[in-house]
Amino acid sequence: MSKNKTIAICAGHSDTDPGAVNGTRTEAQIVLDMRKMVAHYLTLDGIKHETDGKGGVNQPLAQTIKVAQACDIAIEFHCNAAANKAATGVEVLSANKNKALAQKLASAIHKHLGIPLRGDKGWKSEGSGQHSRLGFISKGGGLIVELFFISNNADLAKWDSKKWLVAKEVAAVLMQEAT
Ligand SMILES: [Zn+2]
Repeated sequence: MSKNKTIAICAGHSDTDPGAVNGTRTEAQIVLDMRKMVAHYLTLDGIKHETDGKGGVNQPLAQTIKVAQACDIAIEFHCNAAANKAATGVEVLSANKNKALAQKLASAIHKHLGIPLRGDKGWKSEGSGQHSRLGFISKGGGLIVELFFISNNADLAKWDSKKWLVAKEVAAVLMQEAT
């Protein structure tokens, strides 16, 4: 029997809520893609995980929180967005107790995208965010990973060329945490 922890890998927003948008690109589509890639690597390594919807389905937050609560570790992917197109970087929001894991996740993304670590070495406290998505932290006990700024065309181009490396690195951090 494996004593590994279970991991919830969730995609922000939902099939009916696109989140932030840049041209034809939506946050919901990008984070669903990330969820699939990370799940792929966790499956290859035999790490138990759950997702907020199967295949191409991205369930809304209420269901996502239930998935998070049922797992030992829960992360939800988002993209940041700002009116200032130059805003850039990665940040992970969490409760204080998950600060170390948040910084590891931010560092994994920073390593391949080469974008700045925002906040405290990539970590921001749960109070610094916005929107109801913070229910994922307060109710779900999870971490919110703001991968990069969808509003920044350079961030987006880096994501498109490096996303598989980013997903592999994030999966490696989660694997370490679970075993
Ligand atoms: Zn979002």
